[in-house]
Amino acid sequence: APRASSTVAVQATNDDATASKLSCVTKGYIHDDFVHMFVRRSIKRAPLINRGYYARWATMRMLLKQFLDSGIPNGSGLPQKKQILSLGAGFDTTFFQLVVEEQSVHKFVEVDFAEVTKKKTMLIATKEVLVSKLGPTKPEIDPGKGEIVSEHYSLLPCDLRDLKTLDDAFTKAQLDAKLPTLILAECVLIYLEPTVSRQVVKWCAEKFETAAFVTYEQIHPDDAFGQQMLRNLESRGCPLLGLHDTPTLESKERRFTDLGWQRALAMDMDAIYHQQLDPIDRGRIERLEIFDEFEEWNIMQAHYCVAYGVKDDTGVFENFGFS
Ligand code: SAM
Repeated sequence: APRASSTVAVQATNDDATASKLSCVTKGYIHDDFVHMFVRRSIKRAPLINRGYYARWATMRMLLKQFLDSGIPNGSGLPQKKQILSLGAGFDTTFFQLVVEEQSVHKFVEVDFAEVTKKKTMLIATKEVLVSKLGPTKPEIDPGKGEIVSEHYSLLPCDLRDLKTLDDAFTKAQLDAKLPTLILAECVLIYLEPTVSRQVVKWCAEKFETAAFVTYEQIHPDDAFGQQMLRNLESRGCPLLGLHDTPTLESKERRFTDLGWQRALAMDMDAIYHQQLDPIDRGRIERLEIFDEFEEWNIMQAHYCVAYGVKDDTGVFENFGFS
């Protein structure tokens, strides 16, 4: 079997994620004002997939809100400046949604392969409603390079396999190593060779003084469902190169604590769904579609997890994470 993922195939996983998100928006699982601007056509997904994507979205959003709400008084009466760095951001719309919700951060930086950032730059540049969200000062938009640099938002090309390009993005976006930073890697590290994802995790720990790094990815490659999951992605040209290196919750935690993070926690999506997500909203979405795939649902959710590492000597992240 081929062991190198094709970059084109890995990039295509982003189209999949975007289409799934739109399906969830259309069905009323999640609210997002912008995702339809990033997908050509709407695809109907099975209730199982919608529910899974809802759980993924709700978990990431919950951690994001915790980060936004967290903070220590800085004496100035002004809100603390915070940063978000999204690795392999794809067509994620969170930045725009936060502007609408008046929850913007000081810097929101997205990186992905140039092929992806070029497409995203074009999609943003051609929509006034999106450009207008980039802030009062005129943004620098370069569709040829796939770059947007504005006061609060940057979109930059980067290949995570080459840390020099990540360093360049850090500099260009004017990220500040001292500000509290939330790093997101949603379905990204799992496509990288373990040596590469470890370098990325380590780079982030060394770069930022106060940060949390959140990943969403697969676990348990060895049972029947795990084998199926591996084969599916492998047949699409993007094997889950990282899955044998971090096949369990413990190994996802250790990847952080081994590489410069002070504490780490990983939880599978089955547990997160039942123990961490808002039960009222869960009740709401469970009534949206007829659902009878309960066995498959539990098995599927047990094969995905959210893991995070925290490094913090200031207390900003004291209450960050699962309860
Ligand atoms: N994080 C987004 C989300 O959850 O909607 C997109 C997820 S998509 C499954 C994976 C993304 O990771 C793709 O956009 C892909 O291009 C990006 N990616 C994979 N390997 C990468 C690399 N070596 N450098 C930069 N981006 C990468």
